Amino acid sequence: MRCPYCSCENTQVRDSRPTEENQSIRRRRICEDCGGRFTTFERVQLREIIVIKRSGRRVPFDREKLSRSIEVALRKRPIQPERIERMVSGIVRQLESMGEQEVPSSVVGELVMEALKGLDPVAYVRFASVYRDFREAADFHEVLGEIAERATAGQEAGAVPAKVPATGAADRKH
Ligand SMILES: [Zn+2]
Repeated sequence: MRCPYCSCENTQVRDSRPTEENQSIRRRRICEDCGGRFTTFERVQLREIIVIKRSGRRVPFDREKLSRSIEVALRKRPIQPERIERMVSGIVRQLESMGEQEVPSSVVGELVMEALKGLDPVAYVRFASVYRDFREAADFHEVLGEIAERATAGQEAGAVPAKVPATGAADRKH
């Protein structure tokens, strides 16, 4: 496995253990050249999924990218990484069980919205506001990029954009 930091191939597995009720194996790895540490997951892949972007371009579904993006939407929210991992697994299984090899990016977006709604109302509102602005014009990965930008711009968790109708689920100002 190539090191994500220095790109050398001199990396070692330090620890392997099952996660998600034995549905995946997590390997902690260390790079012998730069000392960088990273984690890889081994999972069953039932089928190859292709995402059709708004532009019509087809790209392989990238679980890690989805996972990182959801972590950004949930930044500073009190959600354990294991729950995020289970949520991502649930989304992937739903995509796999649709029986379609090609899935529009909007379908992925809707699944993420549904999952976030159940997991964390604040992250859901944060996500939904950006998603609704974008979904007519842009593809899902652009939406996630926008969320990342807003999160980095220092928008506090729970700060709900004015144009989003109150859902009652967003946290209240005291
Ligand atoms: Zn390295």
